[in-house]
Amino acid sequence: MQITEIYKSVQGESTHAGLLCVFVRLTGCNLRCSWCDSEYTFQGGCKMETQAVLDEVRRLSPGGGLVEITGGEPMLQEREVVPLMQQLLHDGYQVLLETSGERPLARVPAGVVKIVDVKCPNSGEGGTFCEENLESLSPQDEIKFVLSNRADYDFALEFTRRHNLAARVNAVLFSPVFRKDATGARDSSHCQLDPQELAEWMIADDAPARLGLQLHKFVWDPAVKGV
Ligand code: SF4
Repeated sequence: MQITEIYKSVQGESTHAGLLCVFVRLTGCNLRCSWCDSEYTFQGGCKMETQAVLDEVRRLSPGGGLVEITGGEPMLQEREVVPLMQQLLHDGYQVLLETSGERPLARVPAGVVKIVDVKCPNSGEGGTFCEENLESLSPQDEIKFVLSNRADYDFALEFTRRHNLAARVNAVLFSPVFRKDATGARDSSHCQLDPQELAEWMIADDAPARLGLQLHKFVWDPAVKGV
């Protein structure tokens, strides 16, 4: 499979934020979100056999633990990534899959926690989520909405309520966009949507969702990749 990078860091998002995690970042994405901070994954990388990926994960985290399969869009390499996830589960790792949900998710192994990023209108990729994937969700999974303005928030709230997401998954995450050109200060001034404003909207609407901030942007310089 085509791999951009494999590294160990602190998980920055989801209900697993704060835990040590090995990230397996696959190359290539078929979407072009306006605020994407992973454009360096669109091309390049190196070809690795499944066994070589497993060996690197074991080297970085020999005692098991958390592994996130991410990208890019990892499900573009479904033929290789599904057996990889099966083997990681078999080896005792807890496996997270970060995906846009544009590709079918039915063949993701049971036991993998799917973190599905439903694209909002201002991403420029609204409407790409495959609604059939709602049937593939398990109670352990998480749905994420990355929000850059009020219209995105209104979309996320309506989608969450219409599909009763809070009853289907472990967490519904509302997360403000972090500016992709952010650098220097590690603070919320880089958020395109003020987290305080988002929190106030959520309180006013009694939103069935969890406010999510990208922890890694507050730990390291936001411009640093591979952390
Ligand atoms: S789906 Fe993810 S990797 Fe692809 S363009 Fe959007 S944010 Fe970037």
